[in-house]
Amino acid sequence: MDVMMEGLNVKKVYDNGQLKVTAIQNVNFKINKGELVVILGQSGAGKSTLLNLIGGMDYVTEGSLIINGKDIAKYNKRELIQFRRNNIGFVFQFYNLMPNLTAKENVELATELKRDALNPVEVLKSVGLDDKLDHFPSQLSGGEQQRVSIARAVAKNSDIILCDEPTGALDYETGKGILSLLSKQARELGKTVIIVTHNQALAEMADHLIRIKNGTISFDEYNENPKDIKDIEW
Ligand code: ADP
Repeated sequence: MDVMMEGLNVKKVYDNGQLKVTAIQNVNFKINKGELVVILGQSGAGKSTLLNLIGGMDYVTEGSLIINGKDIAKYNKRELIQFRRNNIGFVFQFYNLMPNLTAKENVELATELKRDALNPVEVLKSVGLDDKLDHFPSQLSGGEQQRVSIARAVAKNSDIILCDEPTGALDYETGKGILSLLSKQARELGKTVIIVTHNQALAEMADHLIRIKNGTISFDEYNENPKDIKDIEW
């Protein structure tokens, strides 16, 4: 198994002047290439903090975070920007699309700075949006907006797709469609997909399940027989 990333004693302290909040500490983990990872935990447990660190969106306070062989905890601001641009696709709960750009333009914007990016139209078609290319976000349903957001992450052609509560704003069936699309990225296309959620039911779809409690990892195991999302109910 090729190791994609490894965390060694990762700690994050938010320091807002007077108040210091230790969001995560003593976090150790290893994630292999092509895994579908689910990170489970209650609200406030530290899931988003960990995901943001992996995505190079914030600085590690202590420890190492080795991704593709490089310790990104040592990166400066410029190196982190470069890292994000080249290595990470991010899918957010509320999609974070540019409202004044069409579906196609939103994906194009993300691919402009990447030499080996995929064709935006092809990727939008692969997520089932053939007939919505020129729609603005306000003309799309929540599920469709999330598909654009997945297309945007995928079109960058990076190895890692990070998803923060990707179905949190969607109804049950639409959410299942999105999860199925994300698992396809790992199972069929070999992407390393990490999904952060508080939904226990999603544990069953994971190749690799990590639970976070009070800022530290309380459970880290592989699932030999992950279930297809269509066979999971909640
Ligand atoms: P989760 O994603 O599991 O809900 P978070 O990673 O968002 O948890 O938060 C973990 C802890 O860190 C919480 O106590 C939260 O209040 C705190 N926290 C998160 N972001 C910040 C921030 N920017 N400044 C201060 N505290 C923060």
